[in-house]
Amino acid sequence: MYYNNNTLIYLDGKFVKANEASTDLYSQTLHYGYGVFEGIRAYASDNGTRVFKVKEHYDRLKNSAELIKIPFDYDVQELVDATYELLEKNNFTDAYVRPLVFCDPNMSLSRPNKVSIMICAWEWGAYLGDKQLRLTLSSYCRPHPRSIKIEAKVCGHYVNSILATNEAKDKGFDEALLLDSDGYLAEGPGANLFFEKDGVLYTPQLGNILPGITRATVLELAEEMGVEVKQGLYKPKILALADSAFYCGTAAEVIGIESVDERKFPKEWSDSLGNKLQEAYSQLVRASEKTLSTTY
Ligand code: PMP
Repeated sequence: MYYNNNTLIYLDGKFVKANEASTDLYSQTLHYGYGVFEGIRAYASDNGTRVFKVKEHYDRLKNSAELIKIPFDYDVQELVDATYELLEKNNFTDAYVRPLVFCDPNMSLSRPNKVSIMICAWEWGAYLGDKQLRLTLSSYCRPHPRSIKIEAKVCGHYVNSILATNEAKDKGFDEALLLDSDGYLAEGPGANLFFEKDGVLYTPQLGNILPGITRATVLELAEEMGVEVKQGLYKPKILALADSAFYCGTAAEVIGIESVDERKFPKEWSDSLGNKLQEAYSQLVRASEKTLSTTY
C-alpha cells in the first residue's frame, strides 16, 4: 500500500490527503499514456533528509514534457521545495518520490491546454541486500527513437518495460535486458547497463536509451576513481565476453548482474568494478554535505 488515511500528496500547488484527491477519468494520460513522470529517492543523512539529485530529476521532468509538447509552466525550484515540504509533512526520511504531470480530459489526439502535477512519496528503506540479478535477453526491443522521444520519461513508454519485465519473470528470471531495434545492447526496463572487461567499463551510448541520472552519477564516480569508461554500440556477444556487469537506476541504485540467460559472469561480484561503484554510490547518496537547508 502506498498511502494510508494520513498521507499527504502535493496536487497543483496544494497539499491534500491522498485518499481524498481525485482525478478525471477522461484524462488524456489515462487513455493514451500521454503524460510524464519521474522517480526520485530521498535518503536520511546525518544532516536530515536529502533528496538525491533532485534538481536533475525535475529538470528531466521539464525536458520530458517539452520533448512531447506537454505544457509545463512549473518552476523547478518550487517543485524542489514542494518535495522537501511533502517529505517533512509526511515524516518521511528514506523515501521514493513520484512526480507525475498528467493531462486534462481530452479524448482527441491533440495537445492538452491544461495539465496537473502531483507529487506523491512513500517510505522506502535502505536496500542492504547483496542480491545479484539473473537476466534474460528480452524478445521485446526498446522503442525506436523515431517512434517516440526515447530521452523523455513518458508514461506510455512503460508498457514496453512492463511487457519485458513480465516476460522475464514468467520465464523464471529476475529481470529483462532489452536491445535496441538494431540489435545493440540498450538497457533494462527501468535501469541502465554497464559491463566490465579487462578493467575498463562499457555502457551503451545515448540515443536509444533513457539518459539515466544514476548512469551519469556512475560516470562521475568512475572518473573520480580513475576508471576508464567507453560509451558505444555493443552487441550482446560482447557482453557475453565481459568479466562482470551491473544495472543502475534510482530505484535499483547499483545492482550486480549474476548472469544473462544462465551464462554467469566469471568475476566475483566482490572483486568487480561494479561492487566498488555500488559502495561509492551508496555513500554518495547518503552523504550529508548537501542538505535540506543548504543546496539541493
Ligand atoms: N532506463 C529506464 C528505461 C528507466 O525507466 C530508468 C529509471 N528512470 C533508468 C534507465 C534509470 O534512470 P535513473 O537513473 O534516472 O533512475
